[in-house]
This record gives sequence, structure tokens and C-alpha cells, in this order.
Amino acid sequence: MTSVPMFRIPRPFDMHTHLRQGPLMRLVTRLTARHFDGAIVMPNTNPPILTGEDACRYQSDIMRSARGANASFLPLTLIKLTMETTPDIIIQAKKLGVVAAKMYPVGVTTNSADGVDLDKLRELYPTFKAMEDTGVILCIHGEVGGDVFVLDREEFFFEYLRQLHRDFPTLRIVLEHITTKAAVDLVRNLGKTVAASITLHHLFLTLNNVLCDPVGAGEFLRPHHACRPYAKRPEDRDALVRAAISGDPKFFWGTDSAPHPFDKKEADCCAAGVWTTPVALPLLVELFEKHEALERLAGFSSQFGLAFYGIKRRTRMLTMVKRAWTVPLAYDVRNGAKFVTKIVPFRAGQKISWKVARY
Ligand SMILES: [Zn+2]
Repeated sequence: MTSVPMFRIPRPFDMHTHLRQGPLMRLVTRLTARHFDGAIVMPNTNPPILTGEDACRYQSDIMRSARGANASFLPLTLIKLTMETTPDIIIQAKKLGVVAAKMYPVGVTTNSADGVDLDKLRELYPTFKAMEDTGVILCIHGEVGGDVFVLDREEFFFEYLRQLHRDFPTLRIVLEHITTKAAVDLVRNLGKTVAASITLHHLFLTLNNVLCDPVGAGEFLRPHHACRPYAKRPEDRDALVRAAISGDPKFFWGTDSAPHPFDKKEADCCAAGVWTTPVALPLLVELFEKHEALERLAGFSSQFGLAFYGIKRRTRMLTMVKRAWTVPLAYDVRNGAKFVTKIVPFRAGQKISWKVARY
């Protein structure tokens, strides 16, 4: 299948996204809800989402924002694990409908200063046991921090993943936004309770696109491509693409779309995150078409993730058309009529060949 002018797919479910708060949340949620049936929403907000009550409040805010775009959009808000997360917090959160908790090792990404100290991981064992017993999924930002060289941080985390999987064999674990061939191999070789999400941008970028974009003449350092974990070598990206199109249900789509105000990105010390929401689905279709794998798109983009989480959805269909469009240079964030800031999407100003026709 090389050229398909139009086709229908189930609305994808984003297994990892950041919807933020306030006016930014309202814009980003509306755009997400147009293309997605629902999303696993990360809790590293400020203040963070730490309990079931926090998660319910945040979920209601998001649902209100989504209403105009997609009334059936289902945001599943996670709680953030800290060293203070008790088994009781997990049990209460589960009762309130929380499906997963997210572990950020200290200092590895946005708002993770209160994250989990890997040297004291065993102190959280009662909490992991409560998660295992209640079926709350453990989502992990799989990097170590500290002095470890930045490109090795994912692989240095593997020993902790092996340890958790060995000590809690029925705890379902998602290694989020994997970036290396080694991570693909590891997840494939661990038991069926371990899966991985793969972002949109890690299917396209290598570190070259962050440090010295080959498209530009003499352009270096692309802050809008900077994220954690960083994109790695071409062979890593290619391994991620092979995993995504393989039809292996251990690998599913979580965009990790992570908007920041433009001045936080275009800065001396730039925030980590690539905002892919408006282009994510069209680019994923482009990629699967290029690899003649369109028949495996629905598995990766909606079915495998939901199956791993044990969520049943009657998803509506979306129509994709092959019609070129140019990605806006930025999207304005407004509070009512008042301009607040702007956010820059992935592939800003570039042409994309697929488009969502109706939503
Ligand atoms: Zn994330």
C-alpha cells in the first residue's frame, strides 16, 4: 500500500501526555481532544497531583476544557509517586478510579525535584506492593539523574526496572518514552507485565536534530527538539520504528507531547519537552505509510495501550485524508481575549501530507 488518499481509523488513545494547567491546559486539551479518544495524563504539574482527590479535580478541569472539541474525551489522570506516597494513598486513589501512578526519579525532568530517590527505592516497597495488589499500573520515567552522562541515563536505569519486575512480578509496569535499541530489547525480553510507550518525536528525531539540524544551513541547537530523555543515535531511532510497526503489543503510542511557553524553550536553560499534539496523528500516519504498515497503525495507536491497561472503549472512527497542509509557526494561548503566551509545535512551518478530515 503506497498511496492511500483517504482511510478511517479508530480514534487513537494517547498513553502519555501533558495537558498542563490554566489557559495552556484549555488550549492543549481542546487540540488533543480533536484527534484523540482519550489520554493518560501525567501528574508533574505545579502543584503536583499526589492523591486520588487531586486526580479527580484535575480530571474534571480537563473534561470541562475538552467539552467543545470532543464531549466523550476520556482523560485518565495519574498520581505522582514521591517518597511520601503511602499504600493508603494508592488504595484510596484506586477507589476513586485512578489507573496508574507515575514514578520520576529525582531531578530527571520537568517538576521532578520531589521525585523518587532510587537509592531508597526499597522504602517504597509497601507502596509498590499496594499497587501490585490493587492493579494500579506503575509508569516510569526510566532515567537516572546525578552525574551520569546524559545519553547513558536510560540504560543505567535498567537495573532498577529489572529489580522492580523481579520483586513485583505481577505489577504492570510501563517504561515510558523509550529511546534506545537496548530498551526495546529489554522490554521485549522481560515478562508480559512490562510494556513500553514510544513517543511520536522519538520515531523521527536523532540527537543530530537537537544539536545540528541537517536541514538548516549552519543552524545549531534546536530547543524545540530538546526533551528528556534525549533522542539518541540513528540505529536507536530505527529500532523504535521497527518496534512501533512490528505489531508487538508490548509497544504502544504515548506522544509525551509536552508544551512549554515559547520563552521557556527559546532560553539559555531550556525546558524539556516537544509539543507534538497538532501533528502527532498525521505524522504517525505518514510514517506507517512509508513503511507499508498502515494495517498495524490501529494496534500501536490505540488498541495495545488500552489492552495493557485493561480499559474497554467503544472508540469512534476518524477519517484521514492525504491533503498537504502547513503546520502553524505557533499557537496563541489566551485567557478569554487576553494573549498569554504562544507555544511552538513540532514541525512548525513545515508541510505535512496527511490531515484529519473530520473530528
Ligand atoms: Zn512525559
